Amino acid sequence: MPGNYYFSNTYEESRAGFREKLSEVKRYWPDAGLETYYIGSREDDNTTDIIAADAIEETKDLIIITTGEHGVEGFTGSAVLQLFIEEYLPEINHKTTGIRLVHAVNPWGMRNFRRVTESNIDLNRNYIKNWGEVTGSVDQTYAREKELFVPAEPLENVRSCKEELHSRLNEAFTTEELADFKDTPSGQHEYRTGVFYGGKDWDEPAQELKSRYLNWVREYDHPLHMDIHSGGGPKDELTLIFTEAESRSEDRLQEDLSYSHVMKSASEDIYGDSNLYMQERVQEDFPGKKTVVCLFEFGTIGESVNDLIFCTRTMINENRLYFQGARKKEVREEVNMDFARLFYPSREEWRKQVIDKGREGLEAVLRSENIQVESG
Ligand SMILES: [Zn+2]
Repeated sequence: MPGNYYFSNTYEESRAGFREKLSEVKRYWPDAGLETYYIGSREDDNTTDIIAADAIEETKDLIIITTGEHGVEGFTGSAVLQLFIEEYLPEINHKTTGIRLVHAVNPWGMRNFRRVTESNIDLNRNYIKNWGEVTGSVDQTYAREKELFVPAEPLENVRSCKEELHSRLNEAFTTEELADFKDTPSGQHEYRTGVFYGGKDWDEPAQELKSRYLNWVREYDHPLHMDIHSGGGPKDELTLIFTEAESRSEDRLQEDLSYSHVMKSASEDIYGDSNLYMQERVQEDFPGKKTVVCLFEFGTIGESVNDLIFCTRTMINENRLYFQGARKKEVREEVNMDFARLFYPSREEWRKQVIDKGREGLEAVLRSENIQVESG
């Protein structure tokens, strides 16, 4: 099977492919349906699409898969949804399992090849319990070099946005700080056009998903949520990341999943993490349920200092290009190429390993949660 089989080039192509899968899902759940809601104005036609089906006899397990929280990462997410529907749905016990498969939580971002929403918000920093505590807050490392992160002028030339920015970042930050920017940036809730902006209030896509999610889990004993991302973690690896609200230790999780790339996120300095928020909400509202949330992170870039700088540099340039533009076409092309390399590589080998590792990850999680009924 060619490596590109599951991967689309545009948001609309990806969405059409997902919508077509409803008929396949109906083979197992005849009452399955497609729910669609708009994000932004109807004319823009950016929708979040959900294939939903409820357990036929007894509402025990609920599998939720979300994709495209970071718009552009939705292409990898969509590939994983296709894989899941084709290879894993047939093996699931339809009598006791329900599904909610979510295509593009942030469809505007996916259509426009950005991570953020139309309001420049990183949705994974937007799930805030108490807005009064964070509005106006800016991480100290970020504040120290604010003018790098908040764009003021168009991009000049390739040299200044690559080599010169590279050495400036190298001087300004420690390796540890650069690693945080790559995988766990703290975010900021002040500068609307800045990188890593978490917003000053709930953004529409987060609001829409949150209210549905809490209704979906209501009927089920065991909600299992897998949230698909790309760009973070070690290159060409799939890292499975559990939240702090998970009671098992990292070692225990590795053992339970028989998978070595398992982590628990330690997010003391991070506000607005969506998976942590949802898992804690479910635990608080429904203490009797066994809720499990796992983020799939498909790595694209290495962990050397140069690689870390590449990631921050690319985030800064892409954001500056969006708000201020570039004086030259070649700069625009370079920045877009770097951004694709970071979040949606076109390399055939990368796409092939997403499918191979995706299978390993889905199997590890489903098996450890006793959901898969036959081995694939
Ligand atoms: Zn992401």
